[in-house]
Amino acid sequence: MAKKNFGKALKDFWYGKPHTAEEGGRRLGELYEDKTGLLKHREWRGVKDTFYYMYNIWGYNYVHMVTDILKYSNNPIDFFKGTWRYRWMGQTYLPVIHWFERGLQGMRGEALAASAWHYRAMVSASIHQICNFFNADTRLHGGKQNNAYKHSFYANETTCGTLFYPWMDAGYQYIPMEMIPYFVTCHVNSHTVLNYIDAVQSIGLPGDPCPMCQAESGLFVLDDVPDSAPLIITCNEACDASVSTHTLQDWFANKPLFALPIPMQFDDPLVKKYCMNEIEEMWKFIEEQTGTPFSWESMKKRLDRQNRLQRDEWEKWEIASKTNYYPINGVAQALFRIYSTQYGIQGDFWEEASEKVKKIMYKCVEKKINPFPQTRHRVIAWSCAPLYYSNWCTWAYNCWGLNTIINMDSLMFDMEIRTDSYENMLEDMATYHMWAPMRRMAVGGMHHIFELWDYMKRFNCDMVAMYDQLQCKGMQGVHGLFEDEFRKRNINAFWIPHALPDSRTVSRAEIRRQINDYMTTVMHEEPLDPSLLDFDDSMTW
Ligand code: SF4
Repeated sequence: MAKKNFGKALKDFWYGKPHTAEEGGRRLGELYEDKTGLLKHREWRGVKDTFYYMYNIWGYNYVHMVTDILKYSNNPIDFFKGTWRYRWMGQTYLPVIHWFERGLQGMRGEALAASAWHYRAMVSASIHQICNFFNADTRLHGGKQNNAYKHSFYANETTCGTLFYPWMDAGYQYIPMEMIPYFVTCHVNSHTVLNYIDAVQSIGLPGDPCPMCQAESGLFVLDDVPDSAPLIITCNEACDASVSTHTLQDWFANKPLFALPIPMQFDDPLVKKYCMNEIEEMWKFIEEQTGTPFSWESMKKRLDRQNRLQRDEWEKWEIASKTNYYPINGVAQALFRIYSTQYGIQGDFWEEASEKVKKIMYKCVEKKINPFPQTRHRVIAWSCAPLYYSNWCTWAYNCWGLNTIINMDSLMFDMEIRTDSYENMLEDMATYHMWAPMRRMAVGGMHHIFELWDYMKRFNCDMVAMYDQLQCKGMQGVHGLFEDEFRKRNINAFWIPHALPDSRTVSRAEIRRQINDYMTTVMHEEPLDPSLLDFDDSMTW
């Protein structure tokens, strides 16, 4: 008996404990400190993966969080000044590695390595944006409008970076105003954004509009957006919930502003023409404001790179849909995709990560390695996702074997942009702009909302994780239609109620409880790791 126990202990030490309870599994839930969700100690993933995590992920990323600052910052001192000045910055930079821990928990081998490259690219892109903010910020430079300031465009985060490629050869930078202060902070430290929601409500905004729009305008109420560009391009974002956001932003920022709408009903060819005109008007506005003409060469060069990245993604999707060899977990897949398509080709971080991931993926194909061997269900996640709990899918795989293969947000910009002529480029650009996050499949009309059925088939999924954003009027309006369709089509689907960035409305524990209930009462399944069923992480980042 003792010999058997010793043998198992040795095996557990060398390979890490097995996943499931039946095999004397790893019980990941016991690693957490109550409430804070901090780890009592680091997860032992076996000798190889623990050391891989320590050196190639933990150490590597800490080192690069410093070298990226040196690479992208005009003066690293500005970076530290910005950390003191802006709440979203100070509260987000240090928990970055905990964000990795949450998203990569329980991953082993190729899944661990490949998913971490997606995280690495996102961190690098974030530091690139932060440095662009701080290089140009008049507040960090004694009120001076320096060269970086004069070469920056401010835009709403859902106004895709692709639109600004024509000025990049001339040294201009696109800075999405809310992508770091709002979108990235929600994922890394979910508490930071609450302050901004409260701020905008304190000046009279009622509590029921979309909390994304609330948080974005709250940033301006608290004067927490750097002053880094002489002009602003705004849009109505995914839905018209955001129109008032930009009224407030216009009021607080007080700069020359161009409002570039994203049409609601975009399948109409006349609406597309209208959108093409609007884009050209916006380009004229930039030319007038900067005195720098539109450059076709600058545009084409970056669009070609963007198209290559899109083809890379299609290659990955092909493997994800047809095999069990796709090594990226649900959260790394979704965030990388939405972030890279929205920010666009502003550096080489996306392409570098994509190359590395493809290498790992083809190794899995050649050697027939299944990176998620405990998969019981292949899940497609649909509708607007909870930003404060994007790592729910890591938990769901570890606890229940639910493997999120693809997310709605990843499928938004599922297209190339032609570069053979200006006219074709403009036409495709209009489509790309109209397929903004959430616009196409969340509020873009029934045809697009129900694209779910096609994608479910294409990605060979047998289950739907249906997000239920409680303050999203568009998606609340079609809740019942989805219920009917799920029944009619005999589809296994569970709902995830949430309030986008606001973890106070529905906690992470409540989301887990809802999934647990579905898996036990409807699916009659047993958890792979019962220690993950119920734990209190109410205070975690
Ligand atoms: S979650 Fe809904 S309400 Fe909020 S921006 Fe997206 S589509 Fe609009």
